[in-house]
Amino acid sequence: MPELPPFEHTSHDTIASTCANVRASFLSHKTRPVEFRLVQLRKLYWGLKDNSDLIVEACKKDLGKPTFETYLAEVGWCMNDIIFMTKHLHAWAKDEKAEYMKLMNTLFAPKIRKDPLGAVLIIGAFNFPIQLSIGPLIGAIAAGCTAVLKPSEGSPNAAAVMQKIITEYLDPSCYTVVQGAIPETTALLDQKWDKIFYTGSANVGTIIAKKAAETLTPVTLELGGRNPAFVTKQADARLAARRLLWAKIHNAGQVCVSQNFTLIDKEILPAVIEEMKKALQEFFPQSPHKSPDYARIVNQRQFLRLKKMLDETSGKIVIGGTMDEGDLFIEPTVVVVEHMDDSLIRDESFGPLLPLLPVTDLDEAIRIANEVHDTPLGVYAFGSQKEMEKVISQTRSGGATLNDGFFHASLPTMPFGGVGTSGDGSYRGKASFDVFTHRRSIAQTPKWAEFALAIRYPPFTGTNKQQ
Ligand code: NAD
Repeated sequence: MPELPPFEHTSHDTIASTCANVRASFLSHKTRPVEFRLVQLRKLYWGLKDNSDLIVEACKKDLGKPTFETYLAEVGWCMNDIIFMTKHLHAWAKDEKAEYMKLMNTLFAPKIRKDPLGAVLIIGAFNFPIQLSIGPLIGAIAAGCTAVLKPSEGSPNAAAVMQKIITEYLDPSCYTVVQGAIPETTALLDQKWDKIFYTGSANVGTIIAKKAAETLTPVTLELGGRNPAFVTKQADARLAARRLLWAKIHNAGQVCVSQNFTLIDKEILPAVIEEMKKALQEFFPQSPHKSPDYARIVNQRQFLRLKKMLDETSGKIVIGGTMDEGDLFIEPTVVVVEHMDDSLIRDESFGPLLPLLPVTDLDEAIRIANEVHDTPLGVYAFGSQKEMEKVISQTRSGGATLNDGFFHASLPTMPFGGVGTSGDGSYRGKASFDVFTHRRSIAQTPKWAEFALAIRYPPFTGTNKQQ
């Protein structure tokens, strides 16, 4: 196994020239041919495949991420996205005909070109360091943009491996990595971009959006939020317990789309708790702490933030609750809480904490969820088909899954994104191509039509022109 490359902050002095080079490459039209983009995508595929062991190692070091989860949600995820993109790129990049109107189509041959937006900046988050950086990059390459990637410094080993892959496999004049934290990102934001694609917290999203507004730079924001889950008394207790737990143990709950709180019918609550106990025993027979299949919290700051949330809860811990600061371990912890103002619900937990708020019926649950001012990234529902559909029709969210945790987010064929405070814009599949593409309307007026178009020129004499 080759050694993990070191993570080094990019020198400030080089940031402006790096961005200028990427812009110059875009203006050289090098990335315009679809064939060029396909070659780069295929190289990226092989870069990921050749370095998959290194990625596994990096994610293990950064987040204690289990090997299986890294293949599933990082390496394999991005490789599948590339396959899907390369399969469809020619069709998506083709000119589109405008809606048919006989006279208009005969006279002006209207069509919509798919033009790349230009030189773009992609800023990634720490929790799925490869997926959330390479995923948007796939879209940028496919659309014909050039790009600078700024991975999260929160997962430095994964950031360094991505830099190695991008440097070794892709055209260095078109795609490059800038490493660093707030100072480097701030320096990047001072450059001119044709789009900024940001994944991370709403607080930083606000900083990015404000800065971009100064130069009218378009922004895509993939943010977080407080996602509700609903469990009615008609739900299958075992299924709900296993699937809600899965959504909170994957990556130790550091998943933007996992549920932040569960509104659960009082009648089914005891059965769901019992099933959660059984499921945890089954998932981690030797305890989560000893299991190689359970991730760690990314750093001490995040660990202490989660610990504080748990210390301050007025709820009753019914499962778990143990922590090990030295190992950044937090046990999957289920807490029955009394109100929405509980420390476990007030803010997005982004960890393996599962507050359950008992309610009397679905109407109450929906009312409570809708009282949360911010619009969530995901909504999850367990109950009868009619009840689940009621949840969907009476709530808002970026996406939703019925009968499961965040599964909608893992389908490569659907756009993924938030709404309102959970984000603006979406990507994955065709949406990844679209988000970096400008739909440019082109008309062509034929020379022969001059006699028919003469009506538009002054002087406006004659019956019709005078009216
Ligand atoms: P973060 O906002 O702290 O950091 C994200 C990126 O922003 C990093 O690259 C970081 O270097 C940069 N950054 C941080 N502070 C900055 C500043 N002051 N100025 C400029 N850039 C700055 O987010 P995070 O901690 O990596 O991720 C956690 C949050 O992201 C959660 O809220 C989660 O829900 C959200 N998230 C959303 C998605 C999604 O797809 N919608 C995915 C993952 C995470």
